[in-house]
This record gives sequence, C-alpha cells and structure tokens, in this order.
Amino acid sequence: MLLYLWTLPMNVVSWILVRLTRCRQDQIFGDWFLPEGSWLDRLMLKHGILAFTPGSAYIVFRHGVRPNVNLWQHEFTHQEQHCRYGPFFLPVYFWYSLKSKLAGTGWYRGNKLEREARGE
Ligand SMILES: [Zn+2]
Repeated sequence: MLLYLWTLPMNVVSWILVRLTRCRQDQIFGDWFLPEGSWLDRLMLKHGILAFTPGSAYIVFRHGVRPNVNLWQHEFTHQEQHCRYGPFFLPVYFWYSLKSKLAGTGWYRGNKLEREARGE
C-alpha cells in the first residue's frame, strides 16, 4: 500500500502521458508502444532512444521496437529506481545528469541511474 502511494505521482504522470500520446498496450506483456510518427516517437528516433520508463508501472517503447532481455532488464532497473525514489525520481535523475555533465561524461552516459541500469 505504501509503495503504491509512493509511486502514485509518477504513475499518474505516466498514465496521462500514454493517454495523450495514444500509446497502444501490448496484450501479452503490458508494455506500451508509441504510434508510428507521433511527435514523441519521432523525438526518440532522432535521439536513438528505444524506450523509457516514466513510472514504476509503465515502460514505453518506440514504435516497431522489439524489446529484448537486455532492454527489458534496463527498463526494469528504472522501474526499481522509481520504487526507490518515488515522487523524487525526476529531481534525482536530473541531479545525477547534472553531476555527469559537469564531470564531462554527458547528461546521459555518466548518469548514475543509467550506469546502474546498464549494470556498470
Ligand atoms: Zn535508461
């Protein structure tokens, strides 16, 4: 019950996001897929992003992506991080991105949460 409440804010944001972007839910695994050519799908394509995890209950894939075990494991780790940081996930993520950028390892590559998701 407490975990549900702790993760609720980001899951509400996630729910709004998947509704606004008209994501389609996979009937077997429950993951969400963006519609082809939508603004978010094109943005992710432009930056080489296959998927992201906006909340502990949601994983959103770009249109046409076939998730593999490594990609799922990466996103599952982000789900665990959402459970750890709850409503503070975004500030924590931004903080580690800022630290990484200032350390010269870029906004993404050196981010502590991304390194953890890559198993580094
Ligand atoms: Zn990641």
